[in-house]
Amino acid sequence: MNYQSTRSKITTSPLKAVLEGIAPDGGLYIMPDMASLSFDWESCLENTSFGMAEQILSALLPDCAGMGELVKKAYSGKFETDDLTPLVRVGDDFVLELFRGPTSAFKDVALSMLPQLITAGRSQLDIKDETVILTATSGDTGKAALEGFHDVEGTRIIVFYPDGGVSPVQRAQMVTQSGKNVKVCAVKGNFDDCQRGVKETFAAINASGILEGSGLKLSSANSINIGRLAPQVVYYFIAYSELIKRGEIKKGEKVDYVVPTGNFGDILAGYFAKLLGLPVGRLVCASNSNNVLTDFLNTGVYDRRREFFRTTSPSMDILVSSNLERLLYLAAKGDTEKVAGYMRELSSNGIYKIDDDMLAFIQKDFAAYCADETATAETINKVWNEKHYLADPHTAVALYACEKYKAEYSEGRMTVVLSTASPYKFPAAVLSAIGGDCSGDEFAQMERLSAISGTPVPKGLSGLKEREVLHSDVIEQNGVLEYVKAQLGLED
Ligand SMILES: *Cc1c(COP(=O)(O)O)cnc(C)c1O
Repeated sequence: MNYQSTRSKITTSPLKAVLEGIAPDGGLYIMPDMASLSFDWESCLENTSFGMAEQILSALLPDCAGMGELVKKAYSGKFETDDLTPLVRVGDDFVLELFRGPTSAFKDVALSMLPQLITAGRSQLDIKDETVILTATSGDTGKAALEGFHDVEGTRIIVFYPDGGVSPVQRAQMVTQSGKNVKVCAVKGNFDDCQRGVKETFAAINASGILEGSGLKLSSANSINIGRLAPQVVYYFIAYSELIKRGEIKKGEKVDYVVPTGNFGDILAGYFAKLLGLPVGRLVCASNSNNVLTDFLNTGVYDRRREFFRTTSPSMDILVSSNLERLLYLAAKGDTEKVAGYMRELSSNGIYKIDDDMLAFIQKDFAAYCADETATAETINKVWNEKHYLADPHTAVALYACEKYKAEYSEGRMTVVLSTASPYKFPAAVLSAIGGDCSGDEFAQMERLSAISGTPVPKGLSGLKEREVLHSDVIEQNGVLEYVKAQLGLED
Protein backbone atom coordinates (compact mmCIF):
# COMPACT_ATOMS: atom_id res chain seq x y z
CA MET A 1 0.00 0.00 0.00
CA ASN A 2 1.37 3.40 -0.97
CA TYR A 3 1.67 6.40 1.28
CA GLN A 4 -0.25 9.50 0.34
CA SER A 5 0.31 13.20 1.01
CA THR A 6 -2.17 14.89 3.35
CA ARG A 7 -2.43 17.84 0.94
CA SER A 8 -2.82 16.43 -2.57
CA LYS A 9 -3.00 13.23 -4.59
CA ILE A 10 0.77 12.69 -4.46
CA THR A 11 1.67 9.15 -3.44
CA THR A 12 4.93 7.29 -2.87
CA SER A 13 6.18 3.94 -1.60
CA PRO A 14 6.65 3.53 2.18
CA LEU A 15 10.46 3.41 1.99
CA LYS A 16 10.60 6.44 -0.27
CA ALA A 17 8.35 8.29 2.18
CA VAL A 18 10.94 7.60 4.89
CA LEU A 19 13.81 8.78 2.70
CA GLU A 20 12.00 11.92 1.54
CA GLY A 21 10.78 12.92 5.01
CA ILE A 22 8.10 15.30 3.74
CA ALA A 23 5.95 15.32 0.59
CA PRO A 24 6.92 17.78 -2.17
CA ASP A 25 3.66 19.71 -1.65
CA GLY A 26 4.53 20.36 2.00
CA GLY A 27 2.07 17.69 3.19
CA LEU A 28 2.87 14.75 5.45
CA TYR A 29 2.86 11.18 4.21
CA ILE A 30 0.22 8.87 5.65
CA MET A 31 -1.12 5.40 4.95
CA PRO A 32 -4.62 6.20 3.69
CA ASP A 33 -6.47 3.17 5.05
CA MET A 34 -4.55 1.62 7.89
CA ALA A 35 -7.60 -0.13 9.32
CA SER A 36 -7.85 -2.27 6.17
CA LEU A 37 -4.43 -3.86 6.78
CA SER A 38 -6.18 -6.62 8.78
CA PHE A 39 -3.30 -6.63 11.20
CA ASP A 40 -3.23 -9.62 13.57
CA TRP A 41 -3.01 -7.58 16.77
CA GLU A 42 -3.80 -10.52 19.01
CA SER A 43 -0.85 -12.59 17.89
CA CYS A 44 1.31 -9.48 17.99
CA LEU A 45 0.67 -9.20 21.73
CA GLU A 46 2.17 -12.67 22.28
CA ASN A 47 5.53 -11.46 20.96
CA THR A 48 8.58 -10.08 22.73
CA SER A 49 9.14 -6.31 22.44
CA PHE A 50 11.51 -6.90 19.53
CA GLY A 51 8.98 -9.23 17.89
CA MET A 52 6.19 -6.68 18.26
CA ALA A 53 8.42 -4.03 16.70
CA GLU A 54 9.19 -6.32 13.77
CA GLN A 55 5.54 -7.21 13.17
CA ILE A 56 4.21 -3.65 13.47
CA LEU A 57 6.97 -2.00 11.41
CA SER A 58 6.60 -4.65 8.70
CA ALA A 59 2.90 -3.86 8.49
CA LEU A 60 3.46 -0.09 8.33
CA LEU A 61 6.46 -0.25 5.96
CA PRO A 62 5.66 -3.36 3.93
CA ASP A 63 8.27 -2.75 1.23
CA CYS A 64 11.14 -2.77 3.73
CA ALA A 65 12.84 -6.19 3.81
CA GLY A 66 14.68 -7.73 6.75
CA MET A 67 12.80 -5.85 9.47
CA GLY A 68 13.73 -8.34 12.22
CA GLU A 69 17.44 -7.67 11.71
CA LEU A 70 16.91 -3.92 11.57
CA VAL A 71 15.02 -3.98 14.87
CA LYS A 72 17.80 -5.99 16.49
CA LYS A 73 20.46 -3.60 15.24
CA ALA A 74 18.45 -0.60 16.41
CA TYR A 75 17.76 -1.71 19.95
CA SER A 76 20.09 -4.53 21.07
CA GLY A 77 22.09 -3.48 24.09
CA LYS A 78 21.11 0.15 23.76
CA PHE A 79 18.22 0.35 26.20
CA GLU A 80 18.35 -0.27 29.93
CA THR A 81 16.01 -3.26 29.68
CA ASP A 82 15.08 -5.77 26.94
CA ASP A 83 11.43 -4.77 27.08
CA LEU A 84 12.65 -1.31 25.96
CA THR A 85 9.91 0.67 27.70
CA PRO A 86 9.20 -0.60 31.23
CA LEU A 87 5.70 -0.29 32.70
CA VAL A 88 5.69 0.90 36.30
CA ARG A 89 2.74 0.93 38.69
CA VAL A 90 2.14 4.33 40.27
CA GLY A 91 -0.89 4.31 42.58
CA ASP A 92 -3.90 2.96 40.65
CA ASP A 93 -2.37 3.70 37.28
CA PHE A 94 0.62 2.71 35.24
CA VAL A 95 3.46 4.81 33.90
CA LEU A 96 5.14 3.68 30.70
CA GLU A 97 8.76 4.82 30.90
CA LEU A 98 9.87 5.73 27.39
CA PHE A 99 13.14 7.33 28.48
CA ARG A 100 15.31 4.30 29.19
CA GLY A 101 17.33 4.66 25.97
CA PRO A 102 20.89 5.87 25.40
CA THR A 103 20.20 9.62 25.80
CA SER A 104 17.43 9.39 28.44
CA ALA A 105 14.93 10.92 26.00
CA PHE A 106 11.77 9.27 24.69
CA LYS A 107 12.90 10.24 21.22
CA ASP A 108 15.51 7.47 21.47
CA VAL A 109 12.81 4.88 20.73
CA ALA A 110 12.21 6.31 17.28
CA LEU A 111 15.64 7.77 16.56
CA SER A 112 17.35 4.43 17.22
CA MET A 113 15.19 2.88 14.51
CA LEU A 114 15.15 5.68 11.90
CA PRO A 115 18.83 5.33 10.84
CA GLN A 116 18.23 1.60 10.26
CA LEU A 117 15.19 2.36 8.09
CA ILE A 118 17.12 4.99 6.13
CA THR A 119 20.09 2.66 5.63
CA ALA A 120 17.80 -0.17 4.52
CA GLY A 121 15.94 2.19 2.19
CA ARG A 122 19.16 3.39 0.58
CA SER A 123 20.36 -0.13 0.01
CA GLN A 124 17.03 -1.64 -1.10
CA LEU A 125 16.28 1.22 -3.51
CA ASP A 126 19.90 1.25 -4.65
CA ILE A 127 20.49 4.88 -3.74
CA LYS A 128 24.15 5.85 -3.97
CA ASP A 129 23.87 9.42 -2.74
CA GLU A 130 24.94 10.16 0.80
CA THR A 131 22.00 11.14 3.02
CA VAL A 132 22.57 14.39 4.91
CA ILE A 133 20.31 14.85 7.93
CA LEU A 134 19.77 18.48 8.95
CA THR A 135 18.21 18.89 12.38
CA ALA A 136 17.18 21.90 14.44
CA THR A 137 16.72 21.09 18.09
CA SER A 138 15.41 22.68 21.24
CA GLY A 139 17.39 20.10 23.20
CA ASP A 140 16.33 16.47 23.16
CA THR A 141 15.96 15.64 19.48
CA GLY A 142 19.51 16.76 18.69
CA LYS A 143 21.25 14.36 21.00
CA ALA A 144 18.94 11.44 20.24
CA ALA A 145 19.49 11.99 16.50
CA LEU A 146 23.28 12.25 16.93
CA GLU A 147 23.29 9.06 18.94
CA GLY A 148 21.25 7.31 16.26
CA PHE A 149 23.18 8.51 13.22
CA HIS A 150 26.79 8.73 14.38
CA ASP A 151 29.06 6.54 12.25
CA VAL A 152 26.10 5.20 10.25
CA GLU A 153 27.47 4.39 6.79
CA GLY A 154 26.19 6.60 3.97
CA THR A 155 24.81 9.30 6.27
CA ARG A 156 25.95 12.60 7.75
CA ILE A 157 24.19 14.66 10.36
CA ILE A 158 24.38 18.34 11.23
CA VAL A 159 22.57 19.57 14.35
CA PHE A 160 21.78 23.22 15.10
CA TYR A 161 20.85 24.32 18.61
CA PRO A 162 20.10 27.78 20.05
CA ASP A 163 23.18 29.26 21.73
CA GLY A 164 22.26 29.57 25.42
CA GLY A 165 18.81 28.16 24.69
CA VAL A 166 19.27 24.55 25.82
CA SER A 167 19.99 23.24 29.30
CA PRO A 168 23.65 22.73 30.32
CA VAL A 169 23.06 18.95 30.36
CA GLN A 170 21.51 18.96 26.90
CA ARG A 171 24.38 21.10 25.59
CA ALA A 172 27.00 18.85 27.14
CA GLN A 173 25.28 15.81 25.61
CA MET A 174 25.55 17.31 22.14
CA VAL A 175 28.97 19.02 22.12
CA THR A 176 30.73 15.89 23.41
CA GLN A 177 29.27 13.70 20.64
CA SER A 178 31.87 11.63 18.84
CA GLY A 179 31.57 10.17 15.32
CA LYS A 180 33.19 10.93 11.99
CA ASN A 181 29.96 12.01 10.27
CA VAL A 182 28.57 14.41 12.90
CA LYS A 183 28.61 18.20 13.28
CA VAL A 184 27.04 20.22 16.05
CA CYS A 185 26.70 23.99 15.80
CA ALA A 186 25.27 26.70 18.05
CA VAL A 187 23.18 29.46 16.46
CA LYS A 188 23.04 32.93 18.01
CA GLY A 189 19.27 33.01 18.26
CA ASN A 190 16.36 30.97 19.63
CA PHE A 191 14.93 27.63 18.54
CA ASP A 192 12.65 29.23 15.95
CA ASP A 193 15.70 30.83 14.33
CA CYS A 194 17.39 27.41 14.11
CA GLN A 195 14.24 25.83 12.70
CA ARG A 196 13.77 28.61 10.16
CA GLY A 197 17.47 28.42 9.21
CA VAL A 198 17.16 24.71 8.53
CA LYS A 199 13.92 25.06 6.56
CA GLU A 200 15.37 27.90 4.48
CA THR A 201 18.50 25.87 3.87
CA PHE A 202 16.43 22.95 2.60
CA ALA A 203 14.51 25.25 0.29
CA ALA A 204 17.56 27.20 -0.95
CA ILE A 205 19.71 24.15 -1.59
CA ASN A 206 16.94 22.21 -3.31
CA ALA A 207 15.91 25.19 -5.45
CA SER A 208 19.46 26.05 -6.50
CA GLY A 209 20.13 22.57 -7.82
CA ILE A 210 23.68 22.64 -6.40
CA LEU A 211 23.24 19.13 -5.03
CA GLU A 212 22.94 17.80 -8.56
CA GLY A 213 25.89 15.52 -9.21
CA SER A 214 27.28 16.17 -5.71
CA GLY A 215 26.37 12.70 -4.47
CA LEU A 216 24.42 14.22 -1.58
CA LYS A 217 20.74 14.30 -0.62
CA LEU A 218 19.06 16.12 2.26
CA SER A 219 16.64 14.50 4.70
CA SER A 220 14.96 15.14 8.03
CA ALA A 221 14.94 13.43 11.42
CA ASN A 222 11.90 15.03 13.00
CA SER A 223 8.46 13.58 13.46
CA ILE A 224 7.07 14.79 10.16
CA ASN A 225 9.01 11.75 8.88
CA ILE A 226 6.82 8.64 8.97
CA GLY A 227 9.95 6.63 9.77
CA ARG A 228 10.07 8.39 13.11
CA LEU A 229 6.40 7.91 13.83
CA ALA A 230 6.05 4.22 13.00
CA PRO A 231 8.43 2.92 15.73
CA GLN A 232 6.36 4.78 18.33
CA VAL A 233 3.30 2.63 17.65
CA VAL A 234 5.14 -0.30 19.19
CA TYR A 235 5.16 0.74 22.85
CA TYR A 236 1.38 1.08 22.96
CA PHE A 237 1.35 -2.66 22.24
CA ILE A 238 4.17 -3.33 24.72
CA ALA A 239 2.20 -1.65 27.52
CA TYR A 240 -1.01 -3.48 26.66
CA SER A 241 0.70 -6.84 26.47
CA GLU A 242 2.39 -6.21 29.81
CA LEU A 243 -0.98 -5.42 31.43
CA ILE A 244 -2.33 -8.76 30.21
CA LYS A 245 0.75 -10.61 31.46
CA ARG A 246 0.35 -9.08 34.91
CA GLY A 247 -3.31 -10.05 35.03
CA GLU A 248 -4.43 -6.42 35.18
CA ILE A 249 -6.67 -6.70 32.11
CA LYS A 250 -8.16 -9.36 29.86
CA LYS A 251 -7.38 -9.33 26.16
CA GLY A 252 -9.91 -7.08 24.41
CA GLU A 253 -10.50 -4.80 27.39
CA LYS A 254 -10.03 -1.13 26.53
CA VAL A 255 -7.12 0.82 27.98
CA ASP A 256 -6.83 4.63 28.04
CA TYR A 257 -3.50 6.29 27.33
CA VAL A 258 -2.49 9.76 28.53
CA VAL A 259 0.23 11.40 26.44
CA PRO A 260 2.40 14.49 27.12
CA THR A 261 2.04 16.23 23.77
CA GLY A 262 3.94 18.76 21.69
CA ASN A 263 4.10 18.01 17.99
CA PHE A 264 1.31 15.39 18.27
CA GLY A 265 3.57 12.57 17.04
CA ASP A 266 3.53 10.42 20.14
CA ILE A 267 -0.24 10.53 20.64
CA LEU A 268 -0.90 9.99 16.93
CA ALA A 269 1.16 6.81 17.12
CA GLY A 270 -1.36 5.68 19.76
CA TYR A 271 -4.16 6.33 17.31
CA PHE A 272 -2.31 4.27 14.70
CA ALA A 273 -2.11 1.46 17.27
CA LYS A 274 -5.89 1.68 17.60
CA LEU A 275 -6.33 1.56 13.82
CA LEU A 276 -4.22 -1.59 13.80
CA GLY A 277 -6.76 -3.13 16.17
CA LEU A 278 -5.27 -2.59 19.64
CA PRO A 279 -8.16 -2.01 22.10
CA VAL A 280 -7.23 1.59 22.85
CA GLY A 281 -9.97 3.44 24.74
CA ARG A 282 -9.41 7.14 24.77
CA LEU A 283 -6.20 9.00 23.97
CA VAL A 284 -5.82 11.88 26.38
CA CYS A 285 -3.76 14.78 25.07
CA ALA A 286 -1.85 16.51 27.88
CA SER A 287 -0.48 20.02 27.30
CA ASN A 288 1.34 22.58 29.43
CA SER A 289 0.47 26.33 29.45
CA ASN A 290 0.90 26.28 25.66
CA ASN A 291 -2.56 24.76 25.45
CA VAL A 292 -3.45 25.29 21.80
CA LEU A 293 -4.28 21.57 21.45
CA THR A 294 -6.49 21.49 24.55
CA ASP A 295 -8.61 24.23 23.03
CA PHE A 296 -8.62 22.61 19.60
CA LEU A 297 -9.69 19.17 20.77
CA ASN A 298 -12.44 20.67 22.92
CA THR A 299 -13.80 23.23 20.43
CA GLY A 300 -12.57 22.41 16.92
CA VAL A 301 -10.87 25.83 16.63
CA TYR A 302 -7.11 25.80 16.17
CA ASP A 303 -5.83 29.26 17.08
CA ARG A 304 -2.10 29.78 17.31
CA ARG A 305 -2.48 33.55 17.85
CA ARG A 306 -1.67 33.47 21.52
CA GLU A 307 1.15 34.13 23.95
CA PHE A 308 4.01 31.66 23.86
CA PHE A 309 5.14 30.48 27.31
CA ARG A 310 8.53 29.10 28.29
CA THR A 311 7.77 26.34 30.76
CA THR A 312 9.55 23.70 32.81
CA SER A 313 8.40 21.16 30.19
CA PRO A 314 10.18 22.81 27.22
CA SER A 315 9.74 19.92 24.78
CA MET A 316 6.03 20.72 24.78
CA ASP A 317 6.44 24.46 24.29
CA ILE A 318 4.98 24.52 20.82
CA LEU A 319 2.14 26.35 19.11
CA VAL A 320 2.14 24.71 15.69
CA SER A 321 1.72 21.01 16.16
CA SER A 322 2.71 19.48 12.84
CA ASN A 323 1.39 15.93 13.18
CA LEU A 324 -2.14 17.10 13.86
CA GLU A 325 -2.35 17.44 10.08
CA ARG A 326 -2.34 13.65 9.79
CA LEU A 327 -5.31 13.36 12.14
CA LEU A 328 -7.14 16.04 10.14
CA TYR A 329 -6.61 13.95 7.02
CA LEU A 330 -8.19 10.93 8.68
CA ALA A 331 -11.03 12.98 10.19
CA ALA A 332 -11.72 14.54 6.76
CA LYS A 333 -11.92 11.00 5.31
CA GLY A 334 -9.00 11.64 3.02
CA ASP A 335 -10.25 14.95 1.60
CA THR A 336 -6.82 16.43 0.86
CA GLU A 337 -8.21 19.70 -0.49
CA LYS A 338 -9.97 20.32 2.79
CA VAL A 339 -6.77 19.62 4.76
CA ALA A 340 -4.69 21.81 2.46
CA GLY A 341 -7.26 24.57 2.98
CA TYR A 342 -6.99 24.41 6.77
CA MET A 343 -3.19 24.48 6.54
CA ARG A 344 -3.35 27.54 4.27
CA GLU A 345 -5.63 29.29 6.76
CA LEU A 346 -3.23 28.43 9.56
CA SER A 347 -0.23 29.86 7.78
CA SER A 348 -1.95 33.01 6.53
CA ASN A 349 -4.37 33.79 9.41
CA GLY A 350 -3.02 31.71 12.29
CA ILE A 351 -6.43 30.09 12.83
CA TYR A 352 -8.85 27.53 11.36
CA LYS A 353 -12.03 25.80 12.45
CA ILE A 354 -12.89 22.25 11.46
CA ASP A 355 -16.48 21.28 10.70
CA ASP A 356 -18.75 19.49 13.19
CA ASP A 357 -18.43 16.06 11.58
CA MET A 358 -14.66 16.17 11.87
CA LEU A 359 -14.82 17.36 15.46
CA ALA A 360 -17.21 14.57 16.40
CA PHE A 361 -14.95 12.05 14.68
CA ILE A 362 -11.95 13.27 16.68
CA GLN A 363 -13.74 13.59 20.02
CA LYS A 364 -14.85 9.95 19.84
CA ASP A 365 -11.27 8.94 20.56
CA PHE A 366 -9.49 11.98 22.01
CA ALA A 367 -9.81 14.06 25.17
CA ALA A 368 -7.57 16.95 26.21
CA TYR A 369 -6.44 18.69 29.40
CA CYS A 370 -3.67 21.12 30.31
CA ALA A 371 -1.55 21.82 33.36
CA ASP A 372 -0.07 25.24 34.13
CA GLU A 373 3.27 25.62 35.90
CA THR A 374 1.78 25.54 39.38
CA ALA A 375 -0.22 22.39 38.67
CA THR A 376 2.86 20.76 37.15
CA ALA A 377 5.05 21.45 40.18
CA GLU A 378 2.28 20.45 42.61
CA THR A 379 1.85 17.18 40.75
CA ILE A 380 5.58 16.36 40.95
CA ASN A 381 5.42 17.06 44.67
CA LYS A 382 2.26 15.09 45.31
CA VAL A 383 3.27 12.04 43.29
CA TRP A 384 6.65 11.99 45.03
CA ASN A 385 5.23 12.37 48.52
CA GLU A 386 2.20 10.13 48.14
CA LYS A 387 3.42 7.49 45.70
CA HIS A 388 7.17 7.81 45.92
CA TYR A 389 7.50 8.19 42.17
CA LEU A 390 9.79 10.86 40.76
CA ALA A 391 8.24 12.36 37.62
CA ASP A 392 9.87 14.86 35.29
CA PRO A 393 7.79 17.96 34.41
CA HIS A 394 6.55 16.53 31.07
CA THR A 395 5.33 13.38 32.77
CA ALA A 396 3.81 15.46 35.56
CA VAL A 397 1.72 17.36 33.02
CA ALA A 398 0.34 14.01 31.87
CA LEU A 399 -0.23 12.74 35.42
CA TYR A 400 -2.24 15.88 36.13
CA ALA A 401 -4.25 15.44 32.93
CA CYS A 402 -4.86 11.82 33.92
CA GLU A 403 -6.38 12.87 37.21
CA LYS A 404 -8.64 15.45 35.53
CA TYR A 405 -9.68 12.96 32.90
CA LYS A 406 -10.59 10.28 35.39
CA ALA A 407 -12.58 12.73 37.49
CA GLU A 408 -14.60 13.71 34.44
CA TYR A 409 -15.05 10.32 32.78
CA SER A 410 -14.57 7.73 35.55
CA GLU A 411 -15.32 4.77 33.30
CA GLY A 412 -13.10 2.67 35.52
CA ARG A 413 -10.77 1.74 32.68
CA MET A 414 -7.13 0.94 33.16
CA THR A 415 -5.00 4.00 32.37
CA VAL A 416 -1.43 4.17 31.13
CA VAL A 417 0.43 7.47 31.42
CA LEU A 418 3.31 7.84 28.99
CA SER A 419 6.48 9.22 30.56
CA THR A 420 8.69 11.03 28.08
CA ALA A 421 11.73 12.19 30.05
CA SER A 422 13.95 11.18 32.91
CA PRO A 423 13.64 13.44 35.98
CA TYR A 424 17.43 13.72 35.82
CA LYS A 425 17.15 15.70 32.63
CA PHE A 426 15.29 18.47 34.45
CA PRO A 427 16.85 18.35 37.91
CA ALA A 428 16.25 21.98 38.91
CA ALA A 429 12.51 21.89 38.21
CA VAL A 430 12.11 18.56 39.97
CA LEU A 431 14.18 19.55 43.04
CA SER A 432 12.31 22.81 43.32
CA ALA A 433 8.95 21.02 43.14
CA ILE A 434 9.80 18.55 45.90
CA GLY A 435 11.30 21.25 48.11
CA GLY A 436 14.92 20.21 47.60
CA ASP A 437 18.03 22.38 47.41
CA CYS A 438 18.41 23.77 43.87
CA SER A 439 21.83 25.38 44.26
CA GLY A 440 24.85 24.54 42.11
CA ASP A 441 24.96 23.56 38.45
CA GLU A 442 22.79 20.92 36.83
CA PHE A 443 25.38 18.23 37.43
CA ALA A 444 25.40 18.94 41.17
CA GLN A 445 21.59 18.97 41.09
CA MET A 446 21.51 15.56 39.42
CA GLU A 447 23.68 14.10 42.15
CA ARG A 448 21.43 15.60 44.81
CA LEU A 449 18.34 14.21 43.13
CA SER A 450 19.99 10.82 43.03
CA ALA A 451 20.74 10.95 46.75
CA ILE A 452 17.13 11.89 47.54
CA SER A 453 15.50 9.29 45.30
CA GLY A 454 18.01 6.51 45.88
CA THR A 455 18.23 5.76 42.15
CA PRO A 456 21.41 6.24 40.11
CA VAL A 457 21.90 9.02 37.56
CA PRO A 458 21.44 7.42 34.09
CA LYS A 459 24.65 6.25 32.44
CA GLY A 460 24.49 8.70 29.55
CA LEU A 461 24.13 11.68 31.88
CA SER A 462 26.65 10.93 34.61
CA GLY A 463 30.24 11.78 33.74
CA LEU A 464 29.14 14.19 30.99
CA LYS A 465 30.84 17.08 32.71
CA GLU A 466 34.26 15.47 32.34
CA ARG A 467 33.81 14.52 28.69
CA GLU A 468 35.89 16.31 26.06
CA VAL A 469 34.12 19.07 24.11
CA LEU A 470 34.39 18.18 20.42
CA HIS A 471 32.13 20.83 18.89
CA SER A 472 32.51 24.54 19.50
CA ASP A 473 31.20 26.14 16.30
CA VAL A 474 28.94 29.15 16.83
CA ILE A 475 27.29 30.98 13.95
CA GLU A 476 25.19 34.09 13.46
CA GLN A 477 21.42 33.81 13.31
CA ASN A 478 21.36 33.90 9.51
CA GLY A 479 24.39 31.73 8.96
CA VAL A 480 22.84 28.26 8.68
CA LEU A 481 22.85 28.06 4.88
CA GLU A 482 26.47 29.23 4.56
CA TYR A 483 27.53 26.82 7.29
CA VAL A 484 25.85 23.85 5.63
CA LYS A 485 27.35 24.71 2.25
CA ALA A 486 30.81 25.00 3.76
CA GLN A 487 30.45 21.70 5.59
CA LEU A 488 29.29 19.91 2.46
CA GLY A 489 31.88 21.56 0.25
CA LEU A 490 29.22 23.10 -1.99
CA GLU A 491 30.00 26.08 -4.22
CA ASP A 492 27.46 28.36 -5.90
C1 LIG B 1 9.29 15.53 22.06
C2 LIG B 1 8.81 15.43 23.44
C3 LIG B 1 7.43 15.48 23.76
C4 LIG B 1 6.36 15.72 22.72
O1 LIG B 1 6.17 14.65 21.85
P1 LIG B 1 5.37 14.88 20.49
O2 LIG B 1 5.50 13.62 19.75
O3 LIG B 1 6.09 16.02 19.79
O4 LIG B 1 3.98 15.25 20.84
C5 LIG B 1 7.06 15.34 25.09
N1 LIG B 1 7.98 15.18 26.06
C6 LIG B 1 9.30 15.14 25.79
C7 LIG B 1 10.26 15.00 26.91
C8 LIG B 1 9.76 15.25 24.49
O5 LIG B 1 11.07 15.22 24.24
